[in-house]
Amino acid sequence: MSMCEFVDLHTHTTASDGTLSPVELVKLASSQGLRAIAITDHDTILGIPEALKEGRRSGMEVIPGTELSIEYVLPNNGHIHILGLFIDLEAEALNKGLAWLRKKREERTPKILGILREQGMDIPVNEVNEIAGKGAVGRPHIARLMLKKGYASSINDAFERYLKKGAVAYVPKEKLGLEQAVNLIREAKGTPILAHPFTLNLSFPELDELLIGLKDIGLRGIEAFYSTHSKEQTKGYLELAEKHDLLVSGGTDFHGENKPGINIGTGFGDLRIPYSLVERMKMVI
Ligand code: AMP
Ligand code: ZN
Ligand code: FE
Ligand code: FE
Repeated sequence: MSMCEFVDLHTHTTASDGTLSPVELVKLASSQGLRAIAITDHDTILGIPEALKEGRRSGMEVIPGTELSIEYVLPNNGHIHILGLFIDLEAEALNKGLAWLRKKREERTPKILGILREQGMDIPVNEVNEIAGKGAVGRPHIARLMLKKGYASSINDAFERYLKKGAVAYVPKEKLGLEQAVNLIREAKGTPILAHPFTLNLSFPELDELLIGLKDIGLRGIEAFYSTHSKEQTKGYLELAEKHDLLVSGGTDFHGENKPGINIGTGFGDLRIPYSLVERMKMVI
């Protein structure tokens, strides 16, 4: 089967916490023979214009997107991320919301570094900002410096021992409410999609119940195909999509070297996300 029928609708670039620039990411996707990719950087759409340009150059369909973290209390530490696909880059309210989130991210960095300093790690804030460049700064940038300076043995080690929720240097970031996020995406003519539903840590019956409310507030789709989903998870999410009349999405959450082992389009190797999902989305937009 040729790869030109496949897509990746969840990727991160240097505009947030991925390690490939938008242009490099589109080139990679193109060289892998993918037909379309969505760029879904956290809290930003600033990488998308150059990706669109490279897409036109290399004949690759680039879907403008973003990924938003949601303030929502779930049992068992579950968390919700919402993807917005087919975003209008000029949408005013969305741009304002994203700029506010990025400002809050910048304010969080020195707080995390202050705690790390108490733990004996010297990481200057300007070095973090340098690594983040123009991108939305986040914990993976700090983790990379911890690795570089020998304070951690891997990015995962930095998260596990210091940065993850519940660890000593965890500082929560500002998040949007669920309705707020869905509304911002819809006002931007986008399609709101529940990202990597396994992170909600709900059973299928619990998610089934929650989806009624999510659909009510305007959710349009669910990311059934995802790098770490098991066959059973994918099957369960596909059934829920069908039951709730939700669009099906799929992506790898590619981050380059910040998530080693995850390949664009194929995740850990066996993911195949059909272009027909994109056609379905376009039919109902
Ligand atoms: P932040 O945006 O600062 O809250 O950081 C969240 C980012 O860190 C997301 O892209 C996650 O995928 C990433 N992340 C969380 N845990 C890990 C981990 N153990 N290894 C690598 N990346 C992680
Ligand atoms: Zn990320
Ligand atoms: Fe996410
Ligand atoms: Fe992501």
